[in-house]
Amino acid sequence: MTTDTPILKLKDVRYRWPGRASFGLDVPEFSLRRSETVLLLGQSGSGKSTLLSLICGTILADAGAVQVAGTDIATLSAGQRDRFRAEHIGLIFQQFNLLPYASVRDNILLPLRFAPARRARVTDAAAVARDLCLGLGLPPDAVAAQAGKLSVGQQQRVAAARALIGAPPLIVADEPTSALDAATQATFLELLFAQARSAGSTLLMVSHDARLAAHFDRVVEMSDVTQPMQAAP
Ligand code: ADP
Ligand code: MG
Repeated sequence: MTTDTPILKLKDVRYRWPGRASFGLDVPEFSLRRSETVLLLGQSGSGKSTLLSLICGTILADAGAVQVAGTDIATLSAGQRDRFRAEHIGLIFQQFNLLPYASVRDNILLPLRFAPARRARVTDAAAVARDLCLGLGLPPDAVAAQAGKLSVGQQQRVAAARALIGAPPLIVADEPTSALDAATQATFLELLFAQARSAGSTLLMVSHDARLAAHFDRVVEMSDVTQPMQAAP
């Protein structure tokens, strides 16, 4: 794989949730270059989270190809896909999905357990977790705190640190700012971008909130990426 290989490439991807005739995704072409920040905008129900699940390989397309870092994820077994995802993709979920009773440090280090290559890029795990916290604007003593005791804004920063640790080539964020006010959102995005840039990671965020657009290298509308799906036969 050369550095010109897009970090993500979807080609003629189609997906329908089993038993759901009314909704389908049809993506003729969608690619991400290395190190760019892209906002994918679409209203609620337009299929943003479904598209992210296809990109992460938690669901498989009915047709077409999803390539991450040059690998067609449909060629991997379910177990291989889990390991591949842990190595290549840092995920920030809408609800953060932190372990509430674990420390901030343990939450941040969690993805490294399943990703030996990502772990190998982190020489001093505790120091890297602390530096990520500081870089994302958390107080120095936050690493030892129980994740569930932090404010929503702080938990979001922990979720971002967990996605960034070990510099995965692709970071995917599903509406991570929806619980925050505009000023807090803007600060968070600037800190997230700075960390993603220094890791060399590509950042794909999906949102319904067009006010975020100014922060990104590129903004794409769901309606430009998808085409109307044929009715189910
Ligand atoms: P968005 O993230 O843009 O709000 P989603 O991808 O969550 O959109 O949803 C797109 C469509 O897929 C909706 O009609 C939703 O009901 C349906 N959908 C989402 N997740 C599932 C699921 N796990 N099972 C069945 N249908 C689903
Ligand atoms: Mg969603």
